[in-house]
Amino acid sequence: MKRGLVLVALVVVGALLTAAGAAQQTPSAASIQVDKIRDNLYVFRGGGGNTAAFITDRGVTLVDTKLPGWGRPILEKLKEITDKPVTTIINTHTHFDHVSGNIEFPAAVEVVTHENTAKLMREMRPVTGGLEQANVFKEKNGLGLPKRTFKDRMTLGSGDERIELYYFGHAHTGGDAWVVFPALRVLHTGDVFAGKAVPLIDANNDGSGVEYPQTIAKAVAALTNIDTVITGHSQTTMTMADLKTYGDFTREFVQTAQAAKKAGRTIDDVVNSWKPPERFQKDGYLTPEEIQQLSRQPIAAQAARLRANVDVVWNETK
Ligand SMILES: [Zn+2]
Repeated sequence: MKRGLVLVALVVVGALLTAAGAAQQTPSAASIQVDKIRDNLYVFRGGGGNTAAFITDRGVTLVDTKLPGWGRPILEKLKEITDKPVTTIINTHTHFDHVSGNIEFPAAVEVVTHENTAKLMREMRPVTGGLEQANVFKEKNGLGLPKRTFKDRMTLGSGDERIELYYFGHAHTGGDAWVVFPALRVLHTGDVFAGKAVPLIDANNDGSGVEYPQTIAKAVAALTNIDTVITGHSQTTMTMADLKTYGDFTREFVQTAQAAKKAGRTIDDVVNSWKPPERFQKDGYLTPEEIQQLSRQPIAAQAARLRANVDVVWNETK
């Protein structure tokens, strides 16, 4: 396997499995890695989910704002690139490693999300699998919560500075926004596609295993003219072909769990025997053993994620 792929997969798996652990990294602008995607579009990596910064004449639109404490470092880093103020924040979904920096921006910044994410952000329910989410908004009397929402589709801005927001159904959560920069041919998927690893299906925040692959298929069919895909957590950008493969990967995962239930097998059976099918391994998807070797992430922790996912699919399968 290519070293680059291994590193990408590693970081994704690390981010997904130890979101709480990532909070221990001290927030600072120096820890943010900036990748220039286009002349007016950057990705800020580190401190939680991948943040996109889209610079327009009017100001800067951010997609996601990372873990608690990372809002100010994002602003600091942004000053190295532009003098324009942040006018808009789009949150792809309700998870704390994508929304918590919101409270460090002025109240005048417009926060936009899918309508269900707006509801979920007021609650900040625990993530399926048990991880608690700090409700930073409550402590600030609602500062940083979305005031503008969409149901299926929304356009922000105009011309080359247009942003298109889409909702294609339940997947990682029940309010996953797909963010397209049409003039740049770039898509930000949030955590529906966090990277090449088993997805987190957060049923407690209205995610769905059964709908997950269908939602990706709808996005792949609808979003043409995309060259570059920014994922929720991976260290490099991906392509629509990678997204399509990820849809196939999640479909096979869900079908494996459903078939096991129908055959009378147990959740333990699935958890103990599952690994990425061969063709996905060739594409950079790691086995539990490889993850253990490379990241020292105990197999038990991976099994816990797997178990939570299989459990979700189990409950959705009659
Ligand atoms: Zn997430």
